[in-house]
Amino acid sequence: MKIAIGSDHGGVELKAALLKSISNDVVFFDKGPADKSSCDYPDYGVAVAKAVASGEVDFGVLICRSGIGMSMVANRFQNVRAALCPTVESAVMTRQHNGANVLCLGADNVSVEYAVEIVKAFISTPVDMDQRHERRRWKLERASRLSDASGLMKDDPEVWAAIEAQTVQEDTEINLIASENTSSRACREAAGSVLMNKYAEGYPGKRWYSGCLPVDAAEELARKRACELFGAEHANVQPHCGSAANMAVYFATIKPGDTILSMSLDQGGHLSHGSPVNFSGKFYNIVPYTVDKETEQLDYDALEKQAMEVKPKILLTGASAYPRKLDFKRIREICDKVGCIMMVDMAHIAGLIAGGAHESPVPYADFVTTTTHKTLGGPRGGMVLCKAEYAKAIDSAVFPGMQGGPLENIIAAKAVCFREWMQSEKKDYAQQVVKNCAVLCKTVQDRGYRIVSGGTDNHLFLVDVKSTKGITGKEAAAALDAAGIVVNKNTIPYDTESPFKTSGIRVGTASVTTRGMKEPEMIKIGTWIADVLDNISDTAVQERIKSDAAKLVANFPVP
Ligand SMILES: *Cc1c(COP(=O)(O)O)cnc(C)c1O
Repeated sequence: MKIAIGSDHGGVELKAALLKSISNDVVFFDKGPADKSSCDYPDYGVAVAKAVASGEVDFGVLICRSGIGMSMVANRFQNVRAALCPTVESAVMTRQHNGANVLCLGADNVSVEYAVEIVKAFISTPVDMDQRHERRRWKLERASRLSDASGLMKDDPEVWAAIEAQTVQEDTEINLIASENTSSRACREAAGSVLMNKYAEGYPGKRWYSGCLPVDAAEELARKRACELFGAEHANVQPHCGSAANMAVYFATIKPGDTILSMSLDQGGHLSHGSPVNFSGKFYNIVPYTVDKETEQLDYDALEKQAMEVKPKILLTGASAYPRKLDFKRIREICDKVGCIMMVDMAHIAGLIAGGAHESPVPYADFVTTTTHKTLGGPRGGMVLCKAEYAKAIDSAVFPGMQGGPLENIIAAKAVCFREWMQSEKKDYAQQVVKNCAVLCKTVQDRGYRIVSGGTDNHLFLVDVKSTKGITGKEAAAALDAAGIVVNKNTIPYDTESPFKTSGIRVGTASVTTRGMKEPEMIKIGTWIADVLDNISDTAVQERIKSDAAKLVANFPVP
């Protein structure tokens, strides 16, 4: 067992005595001080708390005259639970109930012999796994979710109010928005870090500003991990968002007026794939392709025929509302026949790809663009992956082509996110997202609702509420919102309603799966969705479900 120990000048004698008296199976890491000369307790409190927070040691012991200042310092750190224990009983209790991992002692209040007993009791008492204690420990850690930005309560109460409201909203609603997810604490810590203070135009090792070593390290990690995670030859992690990543590829490869063949927005494509209101539609000659009217899926033979006629410079696949798998090998064949660039926008399915729940486009495509905040669950941002031969072109397109200084705090958060995906649990997560989606979809379908393309292979599906119930997507989304279930209205292929009303809703399972929900919860939620839509103007049904939904989500903590 490893224990970090530290004190101030008032506790240095007791520290020396403990080091001498406790030996069995314990390795001490003495964080100082070495002698009795006057010193500042936070310096040593921080050293021990860091050792515990980082996992370097199992426990920490901190001593000052009262033990109070030390406990205050240590409790500033995530994952540290420091307890001031004057008695053996309190040491046992705080281990069992609170899972304390730092013991604070007041040198003025305990004898050496009794302090030895307290330490021994503390390190030998296991944490009580009883459900109520687990729940309370979770709530204790949970308090720090709200305290992430709690300094703002005093510094800027208006902005704080918005953050608090978002926190409560995430806690209490069932979020089925297919493009959203819930970021990890680790990602948010990097995103909110001091790395945001640095100007770093250029790339690691080749910056236009001095003092870039720390951000170089962060960006290098992000690039390396991105390449490793997706098996890519080159990564540019600087695009501020997914649209910017797409813009960078266009800028790197084609000229204004050149032709891009892409999926039209109302069929599931994205704004930045050539919508007339977007830069992409204004600068380039966009030819849209559609899904098959019968199957509502991509018809690759038809796509090939169209591509041979149109002769685009870029064939762009990837979508925001396409519930089926994409056949990248087949798309590569088409691109080779046409002699055009194969570009895949995997913004929605990047997490499924990282987790092995969808085939990867990276071995086939010249360029793969993505967001990092959808199924990938990282910070809001974009990225381009490409073959090594395009590295220089894409890097110059991003900077100086279209962006100035990169957001190094967000880039660090991307690195954190990529590392999380290299852990094996994330593979299970990706599979579970798809399983959950299949079950949720089938539950709604079994209640008589028409599902676009007849089902789903990925993290989302589209419900045609218009043909099933004669209601619009807008009405459906509003009714579900009133019941605590959040989805978005969405056009369906060949929609007869306007994009403001739509005939469909889009439903996704990335966020609820992050909260730990599985098939049984999906059946419940699917039933609620059908109940609400069956009784579209019945506010009593909405209120009943809202209350049931709140009870359900209370068991599934947001990370
Ligand atoms: C979400 C999305 C994007 C870009 O999103 P930003 O909001 O610009 O980050 C790009 N492509 C597709 C397919 C998307 O779904």
